[in-house]
Amino acid sequence: MAGILLLVALLIWLAGCQLTGLKNQPATPAGVAGPGPATGCRLVHVLDVGQADSILVQLPDGRNMLIDAGNNEDGPFIVDYLHRSGVQSIDYLIGTHPHEDHIGGLDTVLQKFPVRQVYMPEISYDTKSYHDVLRAVRQRGLKVLSPAAGQVLLKDRVSDQELQVEILWPDPRRVLFFDEVNDHSIIARVSYGKSSFLFTGDAGRQVEEALLSSKARLGADVLKVGHHGSNSSTSNAFLRAVRPQIAVISAGRGNDYGHPHRETLQRLIKNKIRVYRTDQDGTIVFTCDGKTIAVRTAKHN
Ligand SMILES: [Zn+2]
Repeated sequence: MAGILLLVALLIWLAGCQLTGLKNQPATPAGVAGPGPATGCRLVHVLDVGQADSILVQLPDGRNMLIDAGNNEDGPFIVDYLHRSGVQSIDYLIGTHPHEDHIGGLDTVLQKFPVRQVYMPEISYDTKSYHDVLRAVRQRGLKVLSPAAGQVLLKDRVSDQELQVEILWPDPRRVLFFDEVNDHSIIARVSYGKSSFLFTGDAGRQVEEALLSSKARLGADVLKVGHHGSNSSTSNAFLRAVRPQIAVISAGRGNDYGHPHRETLQRLIKNKIRVYRTDQDGTIVFTCDGKTIAVRTAKHN
């Protein structure tokens, strides 16, 4: 069993190293180690899909989670990236909310990979992209599940460390009062050993306030900054509760929205959080062994 785990860990690490143009970050934040493999290691890839989101989480138990799949035209790139990362099937496929820059490539991913479960918030949306995803889900014989705050998707022990994937939002009782589609974003916290990641989709400050007034455990080493670094997310109070060492922003070079907004960047800097941005750093890969987190970046062009 230990041999199999070691082999899986090695394969996952090798898969990560196949990425073209990987380079070590010259400097890493305090308490964050340099790159390197470890037994039970796992990888979190924040893909450079321009003004959109797509995050691959290779869990240390060998399961894969894909959070969002970029815009429609990003489908083939994401499929190729997953193949090059050694992904053969997806256990948890999450569309945080029905906007095209999050669910655009989900139908392509569904057509190319066996998928165990698909999660999207319980909000319908009348666009071609959304209907394409629903059709692809049906064609796979699957159903869309809508997770609720407090739901634990996965709880396991790997290499003697606890692994957990927990949903923090939407809370079905509270989300009814939110009109913005962004505020229906599925928010997930992934923790392994001492390390944790918080993925916030495009949720805005109202959701952050709702989370702050809930009993949700928000602390995370790495925060995927909400809504591409828009000033409408990532309040000071939220940052003080999450206390991340690293913030990662997914935004397109020279995008029309001015994301990430200057005010958001200033709040991150003021809170002494190291910032990685897909528009500047390309794809960002975190390696985590449950004790330390290493960061690598890879430009694709
Ligand atoms: Zn978005």
